[in-house]
Amino acid sequence: MIIDNASLLIAITFSSVALMGALIIGWYNARGEKYLALGAAGIGLIVVSMAILGLRNGAYDFTIQFVPYFLLISGMSFIYAGARQFRNAASTFRSPIITWAVSVVSLSIPLIAGYSGTGTLILNWIAAAYMLLCAWEYWRGRHEAPVALVANTILYVLVSTSFVAAAIMLIIDGRAIIDAPPDNWAEHFNLIMSIVGLTGIGAITLTLHHARAARRHRHEANTDSLTGVLNRRALFTHFPEDEIVPELVVAMFDLDHFKQINDRRGHAAGDKVLQSFAQTLRAETRGADIPARLGGEEFCVVFPGLDREAALVIAERIRAAFAAKAIPTGHDNGIATVSAGLASGGGEETFSSLLSRADAALYKAKRSGRNQVQLAALRLVA
Ligand code: GH3
Ligand code: MG
Ligand code: MG
Repeated sequence: MIIDNASLLIAITFSSVALMGALIIGWYNARGEKYLALGAAGIGLIVVSMAILGLRNGAYDFTIQFVPYFLLISGMSFIYAGARQFRNAASTFRSPIITWAVSVVSLSIPLIAGYSGTGTLILNWIAAAYMLLCAWEYWRGRHEAPVALVANTILYVLVSTSFVAAAIMLIIDGRAIIDAPPDNWAEHFNLIMSIVGLTGIGAITLTLHHARAARRHRHEANTDSLTGVLNRRALFTHFPEDEIVPELVVAMFDLDHFKQINDRRGHAAGDKVLQSFAQTLRAETRGADIPARLGGEEFCVVFPGLDREAALVIAERIRAAFAAKAIPTGHDNGIATVSAGLASGGGEETFSSLLSRADAALYKAKRSGRNQVQLAALRLVA
């Protein structure tokens, strides 16, 4: 090898400790991201295992084999648990724990029986399988960030291949008992791939963490925190107020006598009613519809690709479904209701003009007794 093993080991240790530090800081700032802590723990165990093997100083007895092999397998199960957590934060630790237990038993039997060669062969197969399991997790979740996750998958497959190569060389060698670590091209390839894998995968994991955080912040900036629908800013980013919109139908909704609910039942109960109305909006609209909270108890839904009649059916459904919830207003036996105004237009009209016409229709609904949907007059085109 170009560099001696000890120098290589020192380099791996330093770069891994730095990487672990970065992962732990990332986890400290976002405790929900357990995959960061699991990844750090996994890298730590693997590095200790490599260090013991590297610093063994000629010894190659049962302890020198078993301890680092055990640490390597444990580190890989942490990394596997991290890969599962990354793809699905609700995933359990059952699978990593079972694979870990099966691996430890399969490794212990030949080593305790004194078959150091067979034990090392089994270790290589187990490591290759772990790396493939991780590759599979990232491959399945690749839609989230295709380039980074496919790169991660490839790295895991390459590391796995290097363990397979080491295993094949051991089979060719054919010795059940060995008294020194195997030393051939596959072992060197495996060592290099382990270094590339540890640092590359760690760095990609950090990148993915930052991309996730950025996406979460973007989502929070566009979402109304009380109701979870889009906020005013997001709506007007989507449809700038003074830009001509294509043919479009919008409905404005305003809860009826909402002040009364606040006055009689308290502000917190009022908030619950707002959340309940947003829930109705989500339940009654299609995936393509865009519900948003404009402020206070005013909401709007944009219906892309729908004509007036079809949108009217949905608006009416929203009104009826909300009334059917029969939420008490606290005043006599009154229930919470909503009024709506619907306008269609666009093509030659700005979004804000379309909204004003929907607002005028909403005003008409309020004047005509509330709990109803009114249509705006069609815009006269000169
Ligand atoms: P109308 O039927 O004519 O629409 O009457 P209204 O009482 O619904 O209308 P008004 O505009 O007089 O009152 C709206 C109330 O909504 C006043 C305000 O305190 C309340 N409100 C605005 N934002 C919130 C909020 O986030 N939470 C709660 N609980 N109340 C809010
Ligand atoms: Mg209002
Ligand atoms: Mg109101």
